[in-house]
Amino acid sequence: IIKTENICKSFGSVDVLKNVSLTVEPGEVVVIIGPSGAGKSTYLRSLNHLEKPTSGKIWIDDKLIEDRVNGHNQVKLPHKERAAILLEMGMVFQRFNLFPHKTALQNVMLAPMNVKGVPEKEAKEKAVKLLNQVGLGDKLDSYPAKLSGGQQQRVAIARALAMEPKMMLFDEPTSALDPELVGDVLNVMKELAEEGMTMLVVTHEMGFAREVADRVVFMYDGAILEEGSPKEIFTNPKHDRTRQFLQSVL
Ligand code: ATP
Ligand code: MG
Repeated sequence: IIKTENICKSFGSVDVLKNVSLTVEPGEVVVIIGPSGAGKSTYLRSLNHLEKPTSGKIWIDDKLIEDRVNGHNQVKLPHKERAAILLEMGMVFQRFNLFPHKTALQNVMLAPMNVKGVPEKEAKEKAVKLLNQVGLGDKLDSYPAKLSGGQQQRVAIARALAMEPKMMLFDEPTSALDPELVGDVLNVMKELAEEGMTMLVVTHEMGFAREVADRVVFMYDGAILEEGSPKEIFTNPKHDRTRQFLQSVL
């Protein structure tokens, strides 16, 4: 459902991504781990157009949407078609970026109404359902400032889900949270995985990777150094770099 081939990204003379090729199958949960500066965020951002790769190919939902050569995309897609494909990917970041002057409910309702033209009543019903699903049924009318970081992040997840994405990208969704709030967010993600959502997750939560991932990918210095089942990566890593990294985080 997501496929990239030889993604490279340079900022000036710095090569941040070096031939990253990765495939995520429908329903699969792939967790990307690796040290700071490895290029994990840059890779994720490349997938949904927040970053322009220098070269490489990206397929989303079996459609080639990018084939970059020298930074230029060779694939010409009508704007509408590209936008529709990008909407199939929900994204949740480290920072929640909720609208501060909107309630939890309004935050979740907004994009479906404004972007997809969903009628208000329908958007509201859906938002209530999603907020209940993430355990915030009693916080519908709360403003972000009155919610804990973990609650805000769960609103952000509900907001992404409200667009009915086919896949979800998470970039360290729990790393800005106080330790006691991490579990609630991970549980929501785990439930999502169990429901069959296709997920690509960057996280330092090794327990989550071990328990929920179908596949773990270790990125180092802009490249995928190895990938395998959680068992393979955690109990029998092939590379010294992977071993060193795991020792430093476990
Ligand atoms: P972390 O675990 O700290 O989030 P990461 O693996 O997500 O790290 P990236 O944020 O992708 O790493 O950054 C990879 C490299 O690219 C870093 O060396 C970073 O300094 C560099 N980089 C990222 N964005 C830019 C930018 N806009 N301009 C220049 N360099 C950048
Ligand atoms: Mg990052």
